[in-house]
Amino acid sequence: MPDGPKILLIEDEREIRRFLRVSLTGSGYRLVESDTGQGGLLQAASQQPDLIILDLGLPDVDGLEVIQQVRQWSHVPIIILSARGQEQDKVNALDAGADDYLTKPFSVGELLARLRVALRHAAQARGEPGEPVFVVDGLRIDLARRQVFVGDHEVHLTPIEYRLLATLVKYAGMVVTHRQLLREVWGPGSIYETHYLRVYMAQLRRKVEPNPAQPRFLMTEPGVGYRLAAPAG
Ligand code: CA
Repeated sequence: MPDGPKILLIEDEREIRRFLRVSLTGSGYRLVESDTGQGGLLQAASQQPDLIILDLGLPDVDGLEVIQQVRQWSHVPIIILSARGQEQDKVNALDAGADDYLTKPFSVGELLARLRVALRHAAQARGEPGEPVFVVDGLRIDLARRQVFVGDHEVHLTPIEYRLLATLVKYAGMVVTHRQLLREVWGPGSIYETHYLRVYMAQLRRKVEPNPAQPRFLMTEPGVGYRLAAPAG
């Protein structure tokens, strides 16, 4: 029996459950499953999983409702499984407290990477120390000194640009919605000012991306938000 982190999978499609069962247990995760939202909520309480994978389209209750109920008593990471073309659903789910999403169809490698990111982020949120220096590829962010380097060159950012980048570092590898970024960087009065984000993201990309037209670090999640590339491992 695997003894890795315990994952609760709430998904009504049998094919996807079977696929995930093979992938997750094969990678050392323990798995509990539910094919309904209500059943999933009960299992979330009784099984105390380390992470929840949640399909939004469930036969009994809306996935969004499941997120809201779980968030009343738990910070357990929630990764959404979403069908393509439902950007507003993803945004609503993330703003309701989900941590990330995967669009169907997705690859096992992608899923496992997202699981590691979400579990690592949860461990840091519990107070296990994070790295004071964030490194991905040639981009290095020294959070203690508030310095940013691309290769050997220090990049000078404005305070807003730095806050935007540091916020993405906090959620590295996970999608952050427009609304969440606006709230954390500019404040709760600015959550609808999406043009701020476009302007500052363009500036930030010009400063840190080797080719701003094809970002390697600051990825766009169309219609949803942005994602900073995660360090390997
Ligand atoms: Ca479904």
